[in-house]
Amino acid sequence: MFPKKNQNCHLEIGHLIEWATLSLATNSSSPRLDAEVLMAEITHYPRSTVMAFPERMLSQSVGESFRALVELRGKGVSIAHLTGHKEFYSLDLKVSSNTLVPRPETEMLVDGVLSQTDPLQAASILDLGTGCGAIALAIKKQRPNCRVVAVDLSLEALRIAAENGCLLGLEIEWLCSRWLTSLGNYSFDFIVSNPPYVERGDVHLLSQELSYEPSLALDGGLDGLDSIREIIASIPNVLATGGMFFLEHGHQQALDVSKLLEEAGFSGVKTKNDLAGCDRMTLGKWL
Ligand code: GLN
Repeated sequence: MFPKKNQNCHLEIGHLIEWATLSLATNSSSPRLDAEVLMAEITHYPRSTVMAFPERMLSQSVGESFRALVELRGKGVSIAHLTGHKEFYSLDLKVSSNTLVPRPETEMLVDGVLSQTDPLQAASILDLGTGCGAIALAIKKQRPNCRVVAVDLSLEALRIAAENGCLLGLEIEWLCSRWLTSLGNYSFDFIVSNPPYVERGDVHLLSQELSYEPSLALDGGLDGLDSIREIIASIPNVLATGGMFFLEHGHQQALDVSKLLEEAGFSGVKTKNDLAGCDRMTLGKWL
């Protein structure tokens, strides 16, 4: 039970974490971690302090704020949406209900571009469907000489992305566009994209956790490939000869994606597994 008012002796960090861990046990696969992260957020202590000093006391109002966060977590809101930020490629990024929370597997797209460039190279890179800016910012951080352009259809997402860019001091050209439609006369050495690719009928899309994320960033149409088809059809117009494309996709889409890329004229088409062993990214070279 959450401590009642005036039971101040029970507003110890450790006690609240035990309460939260128990109450999240059925709805989260990591109840204790969630409790500690939310406690760190609400107290502004590092998580190590929260863990090392369970006897520290909270005021009733801070305790109530903690309780509210734990209850939302119990309803399926992600930790990132509750705290408003998420780590990606060692960058602390702001997220909101208008952006997808960056997933660890998406770091593969960053690794893909980094593996093909050296730190001093001034290549040009396009991130299609940037969301909170994760891929674009991670690449720019590692390859400061590169020119990075990032597009998204959602102005709200672009606002968050631009804020992340400012906070990190990384210069990206943010553009509002449906894929390449408003892009103008550009040419890129690399194009990366994590487009919406979940099949519309996928039960995953109706799960509580995903219901707090924008369907614009997830819903890939009936077979999940609508945006992927549109992107593959249009990128040859802006990809330099010898340029490379890195695409994140669903774990059952590798064959379809490879076929689309080969039919469009890409060479060296290859799929890579994520850390869970699932087909997750396919790359191809333009001519
Ligand atoms: N990887 C995300 C998920 O499983 C989907 C992301 C996307 O559609 N781009 O929820």
